[in-house]
Amino acid sequence: MTFENLGVSPWLCEALHAMAIHKPSAIQQACIPSVLKGHDVIGGAKTGSGKTIAFAAPMLTEWSRDPFGICGLILTPTRELAIQIAEQFSALGSGMNIRVSVIVGGVDMVKQCLELQRRPHFVVATPGRLADHIMSSGEDTIGGLRRIKYLVLDEADRLLSSSLSDDLARCMAVLPDPIKRQTLLFTATITDAVRGLKEAPTKPGKLPVV
Ligand code: AMP
Repeated sequence: MTFENLGVSPWLCEALHAMAIHKPSAIQQACIPSVLKGHDVIGGAKTGSGKTIAFAAPMLTEWSRDPFGICGLILTPTRELAIQIAEQFSALGSGMNIRVSVIVGGVDMVKQCLELQRRPHFVVATPGRLADHIMSSGEDTIGGLRRIKYLVLDEADRLLSSSLSDDLARCMAVLPDPIKRQTLLFTATITDAVRGLKEAPTKPGKLPVV
């Protein structure tokens, strides 16, 4: 099995090969074709399984076909994870002038507002800081989030913890309806609460990957 066989764009296969990533991992083989077909997925995957590329590869493939607007929002529980995910997107898309914004605490809010106003292609955020922007920044800052194609909930079980869940709900409230976006959910444990995060019945023909 190769990334080419899974439907990943040739430019992205080249970028992966340049990073010495040749053979898709199990989660990548399961996820990439489903996401490219427009399905929502639930992946049971831990850090180290290659889950970042499992969602990044199909999202970047689609983005390069239609690069206008904010393509995807990735929510993750910690600042460190957000930075790692953004680094992988930036490295994979470096030859395509990709713009990736990291929206996490500890960084100047005004600087982040300006970045969001420039409509990055991907936003990687922790729920707390993104919720701060949603509550305090204007439509010119957060408006792009209303039209995203992909929402990734990384470490969804941790996103549901009591300290993050209110902020997560504030973030989800500004996003397009579940039926108008794809939701890609990764978690170590699949509970009913995690399933409920997708918010909507599974779209017709959708086969969640577990
Ligand atoms: P992740 O599980 O997304 O945190 O990825 C862990 C590490 O594995 C990252 O450094 C990736 O670059 C690397 N990686 C991801 N997919 C593959 C693959 N198919 N083959 C080799 N390394 C990979």
